[in-house]
Amino acid sequence: MRIDKVLADAGFGTRSEVKKAIKQGLVIIDDVRVRDAKTQVDPNEQHILFNQVPVQYQQDVYLMLNKPKGVVSATEDNLHKTVIDIVAPTWGHKKLFPIGRLDKDTEGLLILTTDGHYSHELMSPKKHVSKLYRAVVDGFVTSKDQDSFKTGVILNDGYQTKPATLVIKEQAANSIVTIEVVEGKFHQIKRMFEAVNKTVLELERLRIGGLLIDPSLKRGSYREMTVEEIELAK
Ligand code: URA
Repeated sequence: MRIDKVLADAGFGTRSEVKKAIKQGLVIIDDVRVRDAKTQVDPNEQHILFNQVPVQYQQDVYLMLNKPKGVVSATEDNLHKTVIDIVAPTWGHKKLFPIGRLDKDTEGLLILTTDGHYSHELMSPKKHVSKLYRAVVDGFVTSKDQDSFKTGVILNDGYQTKPATLVIKEQAANSIVTIEVVEGKFHQIKRMFEAVNKTVLELERLRIGGLLIDPSLKRGSYREMTVEEIELAK
């Protein structure tokens, strides 16, 4: 691989920034200073120093974001702030995208990655990766609703949902529930409640597959996922 690509992938700057740094002589490969951005290197075999800092090559990036309300799950938007804008200060040079979507007013766990295969794996309808949400619902959620969700409800486009588990945490004028689904239709949770004549007031995603949101991650914060976490989400 070209040294400038390796350095850009590893987060040392944009391609043109690292090219400049290479010209300035800030890069050493196996004890030899290089000044040509086209220099070929094997990042797994060779020892690279960038301005005296050892380079850990990582091809793909996996970030766990605690999405706040008011931002859209897109890479670009003319009107609204996106989840990519949140991570741009540290990861703006990477081609990150969100895996799936959370609505603008939905909060909680969202994975951002550069890895298209991984995204495909998590999103594939064949995989049935489960997702757990916490919702505040306008109205008294009942055991009848639980039964309906277990059987599957008919959404406004005629689609019958797969069995979902609804747990009532607080049953009041505004009920608090958790709901686990194994599919990801557009506005799925809101439309499932609409199907039983109720409105979702607040929605937060807590888990994808076996990956729970890190409780120490504040809304609007993000961090790199560990290798174990990357596996857990599948
Ligand atoms: N279901 C919804 O209705 N909205 C989301 O953001 C996620 C799941």
